[in-house]
Amino acid sequence: MNAAIEETHEVLNQVPPLDGYDAYGADPWLRAAVRRAGAEWIDNAAHALGTYVGSPEAQHHATLANRYTPELYTHDRTGARIDTVEFHPSYHVLMNRALSAGLHSLAWKREAGGFSGRAALFYVWNQLEQGTSCPVTMTFASVPMFDQAPDLARTWRSRVLADAYDPRPAPVSQKAGATIGMAMTEKQGGSDLRAVQTVATRDGGTWRLTGHKWFCSAPMSDGFFTLARGEEGVSCFFIPRSLPDGTRNPFLLQRLKDKVGNRSNASSEVEFRDTAAWPVGEPGRGIATLINMAHHTRFDIVVAVASMMRAALNQALHHAHHRSAFGKRLVEHPLMANVLADLALEAEAATLLAFRLARAFDHAKSDPAERELQRALTPVAKYWLCKRMTATAVEAMECLGGNGYVEEGALARLFREAPLNGIWEGSANVICLDALRALARSPEAFAALEKEVAEARDAKLDERMRAVRACLADPATAETRARWILESLALAIQGALMRRHADAAAAEAFVSSRIGNSGGRAFGALESTAAELAALVQRARLET
Ligand SMILES: Cc1cc2nc3c(=O)[nH]c(=O)nc-3n(C[C@H](O)[C@H](O)[C@H](O)COP(=O)(O)OP(=O)(O)OC[C@H]3O[C@@H](n4cnc5c(N)ncnc54)[C@H](O)[C@@H]3O)c2cc1C
Repeated sequence: MNAAIEETHEVLNQVPPLDGYDAYGADPWLRAAVRRAGAEWIDNAAHALGTYVGSPEAQHHATLANRYTPELYTHDRTGARIDTVEFHPSYHVLMNRALSAGLHSLAWKREAGGFSGRAALFYVWNQLEQGTSCPVTMTFASVPMFDQAPDLARTWRSRVLADAYDPRPAPVSQKAGATIGMAMTEKQGGSDLRAVQTVATRDGGTWRLTGHKWFCSAPMSDGFFTLARGEEGVSCFFIPRSLPDGTRNPFLLQRLKDKVGNRSNASSEVEFRDTAAWPVGEPGRGIATLINMAHHTRFDIVVAVASMMRAALNQALHHAHHRSAFGKRLVEHPLMANVLADLALEAEAATLLAFRLARAFDHAKSDPAERELQRALTPVAKYWLCKRMTATAVEAMECLGGNGYVEEGALARLFREAPLNGIWEGSANVICLDALRALARSPEAFAALEKEVAEARDAKLDERMRAVRACLADPATAETRARWILESLALAIQGALMRRHADAAAAEAFVSSRIGNSGGRAFGALESTAAELAALVQRARLET
């Protein structure tokens, strides 16, 4: 071969893939969060899952599942309706791994630390692939819904809690495990569910639903919680996709959404036509009934987003340690160190917040203050972490330069996934208004947040809480300032958690840049010295 041609094929200064590591074992923040929660019982499972998540094999499955996206088959060869979605085999491999690890079930099986231990697994998983997280989360969040429908619980609960993936379309009694979805959003509105148009009519012991749902993710799930308008108003119902006699319940998939991201997961539009359904909870109180499920999916979103921030940071750190420009590695340039350090503060504070929330869920049954904290903090954390996720993904992508913007890299998928969690299960404004209502209903909820902040003994944080209290006291301004209120609450709690659990320099940089007047609106404007920035970057690195 011609020597000149050979030279152009020598690859220089490109970064090796970040793989071959244990995403749990290598992450000191995550291990510390698990220890703090007393959930070390998860260690073995978390190391096993973390090693899988860090493996080239798993990462290849994630790539394939997102490149070869699900396909809808509405009819078979003879014209009969089948309403089936086919996935790439890699999607099934990942679903199988996620469900057999108990990502959907562990929190409900373990009395002490179940939410925290399971959150550790979910945090690890979301660094790999998020299209599988949607059915996992909905199945996880469906469990308390069955408590409101004891007849359904008898058949479904054990199948939902089984750590098995069984994608066959079959009656639940014949399945090794079942997954659950939720279908609320209609064409005319998703936030304002009072506008639901689907109609429910009584048919002996069951009901028949006729109408449509404009978004219905994971449509191959075995059953769905949904809303329909009956005699008493909007009520909650459960729809099994297969009926006990083995026939398929009418569940007419119209098309799949062509989504920006989350592409391995199918999201459909569906029509119900005399679809058999069973009532759940009190008739006419369907929205209140479903809030229980939404509360748990919102919790999961918090954990998932903290994990995705960690994943974005890991890619940025890895790249900056390997890639050189202007004579030294990117990480050695003080301005790049500032960007990386700032991203690290964001991801660490997000992780602390997610696991503090998990701990509140763990203790909610036995401790009223933790119950209040869990109620108030869930929408606050969901709002703020989702807002920060998009900024984090964009900045991390930029750390990789042009390589960040190509589909072969991990950041492109994270970038496209980033806005989704802010939209579903309550878009930002709706979440803010929900949080205000919760705070207005229960003075104990605000007191629980105040107590959490006060434990850090930080004057700046206390002052911000006083300003929030004053703003909440005036209902005329509270709604218009709801985003500021939630942002302030999230930052104050994150600041307090950083003060109590992070290294002192990291906590100081976080509080002064997020609550004080230093720092900037973009990442990378911390006022720390070059040496301090280098230390912040160093402590954020995975221990591979
Ligand atoms: C990928 C994906 C998957 C999804 N999967 C599902 C699913 O499986 N099941 C399901 O039921 N839904 C699903 N959804 C739908 C999602 O939950 C809704 O899109 C969401 O609830 C918002 O509803 P909407 O789209 O009707 O927007 P709208 O309700 O029209 O809201 C539009 C905007 O107005 C704001 N807004 C609304 N009310 C107020 C107010 N009072 N004050 C100020 N601002 C307000 C909202 O915050 C939002 O920003 C999915 C969505 C996506 C993108």
